[in-house]
Amino acid sequence: MAGMQPRNSKTFQVVTKRDLATLPHLAGLPEEERLAMQAVAEVLPFRVNRYVIDELIDWDRIPEDPIFQLTFPQPGMLTTRDRAHMVDLLRRGASHDGLAAAALEIRRRLNPHPAGQKTLNVPRLDGRALPGLQHKYAETVLFFPSQGQTCHAYCTYCFRWPQFVGLDEERFAASETDDLIGYLRAHPEVSNVLITGGDPLVMRTTLLRRYVEPLLAADLPNLRSIRIGSKALAYWPHRFLGDRDADDLMRLFEEIVAAGKHLAVMAHYSHPRELSTPSSQAALARVRATGATVRCQAPLIRHVNDDADAWAQLWRDEVRHGAVPYYMFIERDTGAQHYFAVPLARALDIFNDAYRQVSGLARTVRGPSMSTTPGKITIDGVAQVGRRKAFVLRFLQARNPEWVRQPFFARFDPNASWLHDLVPLDGGRFFFEQGRGWRDQLRVLDGQEQPVMGAS
Ligand SMILES: *Cc1c(COP(=O)(O)O)cnc(C)c1O
Ligand code: SF4
Repeated sequence: MAGMQPRNSKTFQVVTKRDLATLPHLAGLPEEERLAMQAVAEVLPFRVNRYVIDELIDWDRIPEDPIFQLTFPQPGMLTTRDRAHMVDLLRRGASHDGLAAAALEIRRRLNPHPAGQKTLNVPRLDGRALPGLQHKYAETVLFFPSQGQTCHAYCTYCFRWPQFVGLDEERFAASETDDLIGYLRAHPEVSNVLITGGDPLVMRTTLLRRYVEPLLAADLPNLRSIRIGSKALAYWPHRFLGDRDADDLMRLFEEIVAAGKHLAVMAHYSHPRELSTPSSQAALARVRATGATVRCQAPLIRHVNDDADAWAQLWRDEVRHGAVPYYMFIERDTGAQHYFAVPLARALDIFNDAYRQVSGLARTVRGPSMSTTPGKITIDGVAQVGRRKAFVLRFLQARNPEWVRQPFFARFDPNASWLHDLVPLDGGRFFFEQGRGWRDQLRVLDGQEQPVMGAS
């Protein structure tokens, strides 16, 4: 591996599939298991860095360690059959092309959200599509700078996995900032821009500046907030500390604030471990010192954070360090969802159990929430309606603003794990389902719409 000798995790050093066979930390695992991990890494993206390896993973606890589960390929991410097939190819020393072809065939069966999302929310300006933007909820436009479409490490469950393995032929590519500005001028209802990825903070500050400065210079009265979605505070805190352009990044944040804009870093923290290191705490403090606010969100993932105490601690620690708990998401049905999914009923139990343990300051968090085609739907609770047990659901965000905060019921089902598994309490259709075939449309599109994790 390129950076084995210097143990200085202040230099960003990436670890990928090529390093799996030689990484000494894995030497204690049975050969079988290492080969299975290799097999998974042929199919799904794997990228981690020395900071995560040296400071976040508890190597005495692998494979159950949550950060190991969060970042390293796990045998269970492929079905027994697919895994056996890949392992067999590896054992037989199959060619690169042979492995690649087998991997591609498996990926295609993992619901890699093909065309839908692109056509569904891509805005237009003067009749021209703006593929680097997404506009779903009136007040917020998402901006995907093309150079920000990777991350400092990859989460094993990430729904953006197709773009990381090159399966998405056209990834979101940002139009020029000019297009963004033109669009914001034409849409006075938009009050905030969310710069997202991948992780936009993988970009050097000079590059990020090229996107942000024109936006500030345009002096748009409707633009009140700029958000940056990122997992860098968790995966690479030195981005805000010792990196060569960390100081410049802090200056850029200050400039945004000085321009009178609310700057929110939408931080993706999956587990309290990520906030436990001195560098992560220093990084968070530094970001806050620029005048930025930090709001925190993450999906609920089996093997990683399906634990109420971990969430309660995470929310408490976020508050202690001055950040604001924001969303808990339900994991999407793509990729290795069979390995990571938590049923809605269990997600609700975990959320409630954690929520009851924290003070009001941490109860700014909302969830568990599904980002679906019609909107962000939270499961508020389970209620007895007459003789029947029902999920009580509510839109936090909706394609149609009229739907927001409108409660509705679905039949309780302990195994349901997504909106398309739910049926209205009285049969028929949910109030937001209109027209023939909408439900089928929902089924198709549902796997394609993605939550905005900020860094996701
Ligand atoms: C979550 C989300 C937003 C932002 O919603 P907030 O509730 O304002 O944080 C914007 N666009 C999309 C597509 C989203 O999923
Ligand atoms: S986009 Fe977000 S969820 Fe996906 S790998 Fe990057 S940091 Fe993780």
